[in-house]
Amino acid sequence: MENYTAPITKLIEELSKLPGIGRKSAQRLAFHILDMKGSDVVELAKAIVNAKKYTKHCKQCGNLTEGELCSICNNTKRDASTICVVEDVRDIAAMERTKEYKGVYHVLHGTISPLDGIGPDDINIKNLVSRMNSDVKEVILATNPTIEGEATAVYISRLIKPMGIKVTRIAHGIPVGGDIEYADEVTLMRAMEGRREM
Ligand code: ZN
Repeated sequence: MENYTAPITKLIEELSKLPGIGRKSAQRLAFHILDMKGSDVVELAKAIVNAKKYTKHCKQCGNLTEGELCSICNNTKRDASTICVVEDVRDIAAMERTKEYKGVYHVLHGTISPLDGIGPDDINIKNLVSRMNSDVKEVILATNPTIEGEATAVYISRLIKPMGIKVTRIAHGIPVGGDIEYADEVTLMRAMEGRREM
């Protein structure tokens, strides 16, 4: 173990808990922070604390928001009759980059994954079901084309289809095992256009 002071050791320890940050990177970042101006360090620390403190999940769709409803649910120009179901809030950003989709979203915050002990009640499915009313015309299942994503899509389809609502699954321009978050706009647009009814 390197012979650093307790506060530096602690900083390195905390930084190395971040994804993709190994011990070496954590040390590099820690020493970079030590070289920063005091006021910049305070700004960085404040930004981290505030992002956590002032971010919540939209009461309706699960997207990130500062208020009760997110900017998409609050936007009357969006077509509330079409709901696109995604795994993660980052998938919304990817969809929005296509500039083609005018409907609203629903974020599951995960997928059903029995091997990891994650069942339907552990992700945001109940809220989705409670959103189903006569105004909803189509639910687009845009979970990732992985085993868990497919299983989740099938599960939701079986819940919602009997309500007489059209359920579609995005086409697989996205490679199996791929991640919607990293799909380029064209692939994602084609996947949306080629969606099929479930
Ligand atoms: Zn929302």
